[in-house]
Amino acid sequence: MRNILVIEDSPMVLKILEHLFRQETGLQPVFCASLAEAEVMLETSAELFFAAIVDLHLPDAPNGESVDLVMRYKLPCIVLSGSYNEQRRDELLLKGVVDYVLKDNQHSYEYAFRLIHRLESNSQVKILVAEDSEATRHYIRHILTPHRYQIIEASDGDDALRILNEQPDIDLFVVDHSMPGISGFELVKLLRQQMKRNELIIIGLSADAKGSLSAKFIKHGADDFLRKPFCPEELNCRVMSTLERRDLMRALKQAAQYDALTGLRNRRAFHEHGQQLFEQAQRSGKHLSVAMLDLDFFKRINDEHGHASGDAALIAFAKAFSSQFPHALIGRLGGEEFAMVSSEDGASLGKALDQLRERCAGLKYAVGAPPLSFSAGVYHGHPEDLESLLHQADLRLYQAKTQGRGRTHWQ
Ligand code: GH3
Ligand code: MG
Ligand code: MG
Ligand code: MG
Repeated sequence: MRNILVIEDSPMVLKILEHLFRQETGLQPVFCASLAEAEVMLETSAELFFAAIVDLHLPDAPNGESVDLVMRYKLPCIVLSGSYNEQRRDELLLKGVVDYVLKDNQHSYEYAFRLIHRLESNSQVKILVAEDSEATRHYIRHILTPHRYQIIEASDGDDALRILNEQPDIDLFVVDHSMPGISGFELVKLLRQQMKRNELIIIGLSADAKGSLSAKFIKHGADDFLRKPFCPEELNCRVMSTLERRDLMRALKQAAQYDALTGLRNRRAFHEHGQQLFEQAQRSGKHLSVAMLDLDFFKRINDEHGHASGDAALIAFAKAFSSQFPHALIGRLGGEEFAMVSSEDGASLGKALDQLRERCAGLKYAVGAPPLSFSAGVYHGHPEDLESLLHQADLRLYQAKTQGRGRTHWQ
């Protein structure tokens, strides 16, 4: 649970914020209606707060004094204001507030909550800034710091390449075009040969007035581009929107490859990855084992104890299965049918499956539900493709079922 300090006096705004906070189970608001109240609160418990949402105009603080108060405690500060003033906004952003939100409609309040959620994930985000001008590097650091990113600086392209090699977990690369040595544009071309967009976000920078340079950057794989000089808000918006796009891409990829119920690979991802393992094994002349598993009388669990118990059984089984075989490729092919590709031989796989069977019999997945049992077929060999390996394992699974279930057939 994160505590958010809200300094606001308007009853209407408080009502809206209370409503929005009720939908945010991980956020707990603490309301202060005046600067004086906030001063006391921060003096006694500043370390309990994650961020603050601050009204610019309060009866005892008509000129944004509440912002200065929050900034003194180094709390990320989101400013709410009823009026828009470009000069005021730039002043506040340069002061180091996270952002400036207009209290004119519901979307702006939602934006404030989006900012708080980003603040939570931003501390995990590493940004590398490659820029030969020290002043610009500092300006960028100054703008990004309130958002809690981890910021690393490079003063030229070679320096940036070295850092990227040493720290492959860098998420976002802000790169100036004109630098001594390798140019920003050449860096983008080089990096995009090695790293996809969801592995490294690239934002190009240049003082060049020609529009063609931004197009060139983006065509060669940059995710976005900023022309210098830029205002703080512009940089923040572009960093935030490219990160959100990247996260969305990752979530889509995850949803397309992993089964939502059990977290195991789905049929398609299992086959894709299995095919790669099969080709590797073929090149090195090694054999692979393939196992097909199917829960026994699973329909009865659904029928007699409810679908939720069936789901709990699938989740518990998947967990036990993956912890029994931490090095194997495992997937849920559909329903209560699972599969595995392993480099172990058939006999040791059979033995480990027996151990899994014992664990399953003791799994407590739903009150009063019967012990979990499964049948399995294992095939170890070197046929011409993965599909025929799986087919052989499936034939053996069928034999295990017809011979009475609760067993593995691997001969
Ligand atoms: P057998 O021992 O011959 O394998 O019998 P079985 O009852 O396990 O097999 P059957 O194929 O007759 O039934 C499988 C059931 O699994 C039917 C289907 O409704 C259920 N099922 C499939 N996917 C899910 C799921 O995601 N959740 C739950 N709760 N049930 C599922
Ligand atoms: Mg430069
Ligand atoms: Mg079954
Ligand atoms: Mg089945």
